[in-house]
Amino acid sequence: MMPLIDSHCHLDFNAFDHDREQVLDHCKALGLTHIIVPGVTRDSWPALMNHCAQHEMMRPALGLHPMFMQSHQDSDLDALEQAIENHMPVAIGEIGLDFFLNGHDKEAQTALFEAQIQLAITFELPVILHVRKAHDEVLKVLRQARGLKGGIVHAFNGSMQQAEFYMQQGFLFGVGGAVTYPRAQKLQRLFCDLPLTSIVLETDAPDMPLAGHQGERNSPEMIPQVLEKLAELRDESAELIAETTSNNCRKLLELV
Ligand SMILES: [Zn+2]
Repeated sequence: MMPLIDSHCHLDFNAFDHDREQVLDHCKALGLTHIIVPGVTRDSWPALMNHCAQHEMMRPALGLHPMFMQSHQDSDLDALEQAIENHMPVAIGEIGLDFFLNGHDKEAQTALFEAQIQLAITFELPVILHVRKAHDEVLKVLRQARGLKGGIVHAFNGSMQQAEFYMQQGFLFGVGGAVTYPRAQKLQRLFCDLPLTSIVLETDAPDMPLAGHQGERNSPEMIPQVLEKLAELRDESAELIAETTSNNCRKLLELV
């Protein structure tokens, strides 16, 4: 069976409370070896850590998401530092800048992002990035982040030039349901052109449903379909893509 990893999945969210066990069993049957679960707010960390402690397959990242600025408090950064020390997550995430919805709080987002990048450097952990309408601003922060271990740009939808800058900083690119839409030609071209050694698969479930599944809950069970689409687009075997993307993810996050 092909080894598969969902590098970005909110399996801790309530949307999975009634059938998380079944979803995990099905994922195992499909060949998934790991599901990376990024944290979004301080309140979400305890349940997330609990699920990960119960299920070997689920691996935690901890962070303060830029789309939830209203939920974050100053003391959350200290709490994050403590939580990292106590729980040793595989990454800091998801963190970043979202200037699509929250353009009004750019300064606060940037300060929070920079502080979490510093924590990543201190703890020698990679980061999982959420970036919308802010790639140049994020790259500016990354260029000043000496000693950062790299990370994953989740749901990457930037330009090839921006991708090259990220690669220079040791970043991989997450591809998910968005690439399955016929209208996503620019994104499809980008993921044809990127080197396979820089790509990881993701679902962002329960969000970002695949084409044909609009309005449904997305699930890590859809990873094989993301894989299939990428194989078709790149004209490479599913086996090669599964093997390489899983290796990329395992290496960066030091998964065992
Ligand atoms: Zn996410």
